[in-house]
Amino acid sequence: MTSSPEDANTLVLQKAPAIDRAGLLSGLAADLHNDSQQKRFTALILVELAGFRHLNRRFGFEVGDSVLAYVLNHLFENIKKASLVGRIGDDCFAIVVPELKSLSLLPVSANKIQQILAAPIVYQQEEIHLDSYVGISVAPLNAISNQQLLMHAEQSLQRARRAIDHCYMADAETEDSPPLNEWELQEALRRAAGANELMLCYQPKICLQTLTPVACEALMRWHSESFGEVSPGVFIPLAEESGLIMDLTEWAALALPREAIDFRYDEVPLNVALNVSPKDLVAGHLHATLESALNIWDMPSTNVTLEITEGTLMDNPQASFDLMQALKQQGFRLSIDDFGTGYSSMSYFKLIPADEIKIDKCFITNLANDCDDQVLVRAIIDLAHHFQMKTVAEGVEDMQTLQMLMAMKCDYAQGYHFTPALPSDQFKTWLSNYQVQDYFPQESQRSNQ
Ligand code: C2E
Ligand code: CA
Ligand code: CA
Repeated sequence: MTSSPEDANTLVLQKAPAIDRAGLLSGLAADLHNDSQQKRFTALILVELAGFRHLNRRFGFEVGDSVLAYVLNHLFENIKKASLVGRIGDDCFAIVVPELKSLSLLPVSANKIQQILAAPIVYQQEEIHLDSYVGISVAPLNAISNQQLLMHAEQSLQRARRAIDHCYMADAETEDSPPLNEWELQEALRRAAGANELMLCYQPKICLQTLTPVACEALMRWHSESFGEVSPGVFIPLAEESGLIMDLTEWAALALPREAIDFRYDEVPLNVALNVSPKDLVAGHLHATLESALNIWDMPSTNVTLEITEGTLMDNPQASFDLMQALKQQGFRLSIDDFGTGYSSMSYFKLIPADEIKIDKCFITNLANDCDDQVLVRAIIDLAHHFQMKTVAEGVEDMQTLQMLMAMKCDYAQGYHFTPALPSDQFKTWLSNYQVQDYFPQESQRSNQ
């Protein structure tokens, strides 16, 4: 035992809490969700201690438990980019690293983990040395769903036990992690509605004049029996390519009024937004589906907003505008989603028969620090107002951004600052607990002065 005392860490007796598989999977699902939208990688790193049984036998369980707690703390303190660090098995730890733009540093991180854990731990003048195996899988290269990503990380860990450097990163090309079979995913999606695997979650839109929730957007979630949680960023484009989108829209149109008929804030019903694909518009069945679904629940069409993405509208603007006009005459509010990303020509702007424009979150996320985004967002708001359209900023994550949007006279805000999308019962609880001062502390202080 040659290391100097400064290198060593003294062991404090304590226990390491464990998270269960469900906890890991749900944390992972949230990151996969975001990263698939932002086109970034999510890495799942599993770390297993080598020979932990011997350590338990030699020093006893109390010391063994304390070593696990020590490992957990060290991983937590040193892997700053992790969104989740947890113990998921006896001597196995999971680390989720989201928002990766490149994978080049992953082997370095794996090595760093092994080095951190290799530093000797001192217990009653004795040094304990830990050796670890590291297995890594990456979304979307190895898998796109949480369950499959975990399965690939477990396979990598198995290989790491045989690898010279005790580390293995799943490769998208190797046979242990076959590329994602789109056909299987599509078939699973075809069965999803019938198999009760779909659900809607709801995210509020907050009025920036009254500072209260006045509307909400329904966002679809798919929990597949075979693939686990699949992000809409993956299954919606797949559904659009394969034509399945119309079945999904129909399913959502039927579920929405049933769930949302009693969404209220301060006794006032919320306006509810449904995402529709331009393919739904073209197929022309949307009118009839919506009409019969709303009739069943006695929900007026004026209480429903249809969100249509800007990009695809512009493939055939005149035909889309005609169909939108017909829906408008039926009483629906219309919203142009992801505004600013679809390169629509300015000359079309005055022809778009919309009531609302949703400023894409790519302009909002960094608003507080980016002067160009500030100029663009202010211009979009002014332009929309000139044409009597309301504006919604999506992706509002903090107070500073919210205040800027208020100063720019944006009409509504939506984003994690308030809440992510929630299942209907949780959304109702969120509405009933809503307090202005929780989300607008400065505004409520000002009104008290
Ligand atoms: P979208 O319509 O632009 O929906 C907004 C997305 O931003 C949602 O992602 C939402 O969860 C996410 N989001 C909300 N607040 C924040 C925030 O503060 N920060 C960040 N980073 N993200 C935030 P989601 O639910 O993954 O949906 C992705 C896309 O899938 C949607 O984008 C929409 O285009 C499509 N989609 C979702 N549900 C449906 C549906 O029922 N039908 C159709 N046709 N498309 C849907
Ligand atoms: Ca939307
Ligand atoms: Ca959007």
